[in-house]
Amino acid sequence: MKKSPYFYKTFMEVKITILGTGTSQGIPVIGSSHPVCLSDNPKDKRLRVSAMIEVNDKRLIIDCGPDFRQQMLSNKVSSIDAVLFTHEHADHTAGLDDLRPFYFRQGDLHCYMTSRVHEALKERFNYIFTTANKYPGVATLEVHEFINDTFTVDGIEVTPVLADHGYIPVHGFRIENVAYMTDVKTIAQ
Ligand SMILES: [Zn+2]
Repeated sequence: MKKSPYFYKTFMEVKITILGTGTSQGIPVIGSSHPVCLSDNPKDKRLRVSAMIEVNDKRLIIDCGPDFRQQMLSNKVSSIDAVLFTHEHADHTAGLDDLRPFYFRQGDLHCYMTSRVHEALKERFNYIFTTANKYPGVATLEVHEFINDTFTVDGIEVTPVLADHGYIPVHGFRIENVAYMTDVKTIAQ
């Protein structure tokens, strides 16, 4: 029997959990009388976009939007190894403060983002990134900036995939044979 090239690689079990697929406002939209927003169908209850990728015993979260807390609670997530950010839009980053329970349990949290996203978050979450007079209870995030090259998170190779969101760049991520992309308008061939 012919062996696949992957046969020779160290076996990595990759599991992806889609945590949210909603629009930037989430579904249902507050106050909306659209039939989808009034629907009782659980498929019409969509949290803001995010995903969790587990590789062996490591857990990576992609994006940290306003529904992050609820997503962690409903998936019973008690520890995370890193957070990867696709882009700076609020529906992907506004839950940053809710990383605190993980910080309290685990210490400094490793966050991966481009310098562009880093700058945007420093402005919006000044109290998290400031080094002067930091008040107690604020999480310390260990930021690792990436460009377009493959980087390693706890031994896991992550390859950023650049795409165009429309007006701003967005990155997807490839881990082993799984690729996750969001908010993509166009992608180079
Ligand atoms: Zn976006």
